Amino acid sequence: ADIAMYKAKESGGRHFRFFTGEMDQRTTQQLKMESELRKAIINNELSLVYQPQLSLADNTLCGMEVLVRWHHPKRGIIYPGEFIPVAEETGLINDLGLWVMRHTCKQIAKWRKKALKTPRISINLSARQFHQHDLLAQLKELLQAHQLTASDIEFEMTESMLMADAEETARLLNQLAKFGISLAVDDFGTGYSSLAYLQKFPIHRLKIDRRFIQHLPDNGNDSVIVSTIIAMAHNMGMKVVAEGVETGEQQRFLARLKCDEAQGYLFAKPLPTEACADYLKNHQADL
Ligand code: C2E
Ligand code: MG
Ligand code: MG
Ligand code: MG
Repeated sequence: ADIAMYKAKESGGRHFRFFTGEMDQRTTQQLKMESELRKAIINNELSLVYQPQLSLADNTLCGMEVLVRWHHPKRGIIYPGEFIPVAEETGLINDLGLWVMRHTCKQIAKWRKKALKTPRISINLSARQFHQHDLLAQLKELLQAHQLTASDIEFEMTESMLMADAEETARLLNQLAKFGISLAVDDFGTGYSSLAYLQKFPIHRLKIDRRFIQHLPDNGNDSVIVSTIIAMAHNMGMKVVAEGVETGEQQRFLARLKCDEAQGYLFAKPLPTEACADYLKNHQADL
């Protein structure tokens, strides 16, 4: 909003009115969404879906990523791309993030009670949540309450989150790693960090962003970028996950490059709880 305001002022009075009008509208919509989202957390309008991650060497299940969905009473399903940024801006993300952690732990415990083995479950963290002082305390409490261990959980953080304040970032990541939480860099390649920069941090897994995967193997540039990322990450002791794998060609190409894991519609879409339980039943031998 600050940038919009700056640009509006810069471009003179006539435009100023146009821009502020648009801004007011955006702010009103945001306020509406904020108050609805606040209620959504309380009224259980949120749900979780789980997307399998497979080992490319043998096609076995090795992880699942938890993704949040909002079942809006009027609008139907709203995807996180629309409401996570609002939650992040307004600070609601702390409540929402805690809701996600709590319900993920609860669900894992439920599955285990039914004697279903579960793989590592990855939870997306937002910037604000990552810097929240009691994040680790919250997680510890939840794990204990549900008889889970740190190794049951992984946190995914985007590359851009790790770019700000390297020292503080390292301190927080080391704290999580020391407790036994596995850490993944999400959407790798979309920020401006280098692998050398990431070497400062205790990162276990690198997730290559979907936009580098989607044109494989035909796009020569992307092929070079992806094979370089995989080789360098391996040299640095990290595992690599390809995001958004949709075709058998992509799968075979990535397997040849020794990419460790893949996630995408080719294997499974994000699955609601019931469908996920069925999926888990069919993959117990992998775990
Ligand atoms: P992400 O963490 O990069 O998650 C992967 C996104 O790619 C998911 O979108 C998933 O549904 C989608 N996807 C997976 N496989 C494919 C594929 O083969 N093709 C295509 N086209 N898409 C695929 P989704 O669920 O809409 O989530 C969007 C983003 O919202 C996530 O990106 C993540 O950054 C954020 N998000 C989701 N849940 C949470 C959460 O609980 N907390 C936070 N802080 N962020 C979340
Ligand atoms: Mg993610
Ligand atoms: Mg991602
Ligand atoms: Mg992504």
